[in-house]
Amino acid sequence: MWGMTLDPQLKKQLQHLDGVEADWDIILAGHTSLRVGGPVSCLLRPLDLAGLQTAVQVLNQKHHPYFILGRGTNLLVQDGGTKAVAISLEKGFSQVECIDPTGRVKAGAGLRLSRLLRFCLQQGLSGLEFIAGIPGSLGGALRMNAGTHAGKMADVCEAVYLLLSDGTLKKLMRTKLSFSYRRLELPPAAVVLGAELLLTPSSREQIRQRIRSLLEVRKEKQPWQLPSAGSVFKNPPGDFAGRLIEAVGLKGVRIGDAQISPKHANFIVNRGRARASDVHALIQLAQEKVSEEFGVQLELEIEVVGNNYNS
Ligand SMILES: Cc1cc2nc3c(=O)[nH]c(=O)nc-3n(C[C@H](O)[C@H](O)[C@H](O)COP(=O)(O)OP(=O)(O)OC[C@H]3O[C@@H](n4cnc5c(N)ncnc54)[C@H](O)[C@@H]3O)c2cc1C
Repeated sequence: MWGMTLDPQLKKQLQHLDGVEADWDIILAGHTSLRVGGPVSCLLRPLDLAGLQTAVQVLNQKHHPYFILGRGTNLLVQDGGTKAVAISLEKGFSQVECIDPTGRVKAGAGLRLSRLLRFCLQQGLSGLEFIAGIPGSLGGALRMNAGTHAGKMADVCEAVYLLLSDGTLKKLMRTKLSFSYRRLELPPAAVVLGAELLLTPSSREQIRQRIRSLLEVRKEKQPWQLPSAGSVFKNPPGDFAGRLIEAVGLKGVRIGDAQISPKHANFIVNRGRARASDVHALIQLAQEKVSEEFGVQLELEIEVVGNNYNS
């Protein structure tokens, strides 16, 4: 399994990093909202910027791959896991503050979206209500340009703070950021450390109302009681992936414990002990059928971590 392949010398170095906690040989299923995925040899939790910089430096020196694990709510981790080292920013990068009373908020990439939204509500700042019910961290939401018809991260992001692969820090202003549908382009291996968000003062009651109504719609339309990774496919231009999958008769179809949700056909839910290979089989089935019947190539919205589907 990939998770067991860490070079002993690298392991020793990672074990002795200042300002970094580490978990060894863990199963990523426990760290993803879909509850699927195999092992990773090491999950690093830097407690501050210096810790993160040292960790990234050591990994780069050894040419060992790594990735940022947000809250794992947009991921399909392979059953065989990944040889990359996972890095979580939850511990050291979850601060939030209002840096300008007219509506500028600065927050760390590890901050949970639900906490960020609560903070904005308390401050009477509007603009982020669209994230109500979207799980995940600010870093993941920025990377994925998360959103709904009601808004997206690109609408509120003023600047992002990055750690580049050569160890330098960079602040990129809005005009230099390349957001697209469910994507923020980043320099290779860059880590989002945090962001400045531009919001608008508003009454708390109005913000609360908007959050409430968005959550109600979400509850009605999405299978929120079962593990999932949200929408599996991007919506093709002018259409909805869920509508197409439903139209080819796949709603409710099950492989192993993975199921195309009977409530929303663009969600794959885990009904117990689903494996990544089951989820992958459903993905392929949906792509094939939709391509055959409509000539549309469904593109993944979720990110796949690891290489070996069937191991
Ligand atoms: C029930 C449910 C509903 C959802 N609804 C929506 C929705 O309405 N709209 C929507 O857009 N999404 C939705 N999602 C998907 C998901 O919640 C968002 O994409 C979320 O913002 C991902 O955040 P995360 O922290 O979990 O990222 P992860 O899933 O952990 O990571 C996603 C990607 O971002 C990268 N990444 C994470 N943090 C950083 C960082 N600091 N620096 C660089 N790269 C980073 C990861 O390496 C990975 O490539 C839903 C998911 C679920 C489970």
